[in-house]
Amino acid sequence: MSTVDGVGPDELGVRLKEFEGRPAAVAGVGKDPVNAPMIRHWCEAMGDTAPAYRGPRAVAPPTMLQVWTMGGLRGHEGRTGAYDELLGLLDGSGCTSVVATDCEQEYLRPLRPGDEVTFDAVIESVSGRKTTKLGTGYFVTTRMDVRVDGELAGTHRFRILKYAPARRTPPARRPGRPRPVVNRDNAGFWEGVAEHRLLIQRCTGCGILRHPWLPGCNACGCLDWDTVEASGEGTVYSYVVMHHPPFPAFTESDQAADAAGPYAVGLIELAEGVRMVSNVVGVPYDKVRIGLPVRAEFRSYEDEGAEQGALALPVFRVVEGEG
Ligand code: ZN
Repeated sequence: MSTVDGVGPDELGVRLKEFEGRPAAVAGVGKDPVNAPMIRHWCEAMGDTAPAYRGPRAVAPPTMLQVWTMGGLRGHEGRTGAYDELLGLLDGSGCTSVVATDCEQEYLRPLRPGDEVTFDAVIESVSGRKTTKLGTGYFVTTRMDVRVDGELAGTHRFRILKYAPARRTPPARRPGRPRPVVNRDNAGFWEGVAEHRLLIQRCTGCGILRHPWLPGCNACGCLDWDTVEASGEGTVYSYVVMHHPPFPAFTESDQAADAAGPYAVGLIELAEGVRMVSNVVGVPYDKVRIGLPVRAEFRSYEDEGAEQGALALPVFRVVEGEG
């Protein structure tokens, strides 16, 4: 790892350790008291309908703990600069990338609308130098203590990895196409694909067709179903073009792995009305358009070294004369 000012990794480690215990924020004050509108937005975003978070006796969802300490665009008064100094030291040593790795929270008392939150944050620990798949760097853990009326309401521990990105080596050979995840809910679909049939689930309660496969009907709740075989006719309902990063396993087989270019991922509306995600083939990626008529076909992907044998997948070919 390259380092600044001729500082070797060991000396860097010593300097980083000196940050342990230094405050990152002192006597921070929440910008707003705990309040019902923010609780409502959170519950809507999370899809959490628990009655405890509504009404005159509402409490805030415990996982909102950090929300009440957020500084918004302008940040907080109480920041000490120690955290920025630590990150700057790591940047200068070549650890220019960052990833949040995990968060732990502990709740000591519920927060209720009207509670005014104060907080302190400390750089709790800096790990030794670690090598991960992402690269080599240091885990930095901060702990925030959140209080109401001086009483500890909860702690929020947040860990990042600040690292020098590992250099990527191109694969020696084209990687095999990733296998679909087959489980008991969708096994019937993949059994159909193996026989080159596109099977759509049909609720026997209300007759609605559904895809992807599910254990029950979203419309009527019925758990019984049978299948209908799709004609294979469809149109491009929507699509995206994947540009980056190149993913050789999903590109056309005649392209070399290192020349993997963009590829189109289509959302196909089948003639029966359900939609399915797959590759659109037969035209270059930049000729795929919404509304293009397509027809299902089955491709076999050989994968040397795979024990399961060739993999069959449905793809959608643009109908001749279109595109
Ligand atoms: Zn139904």
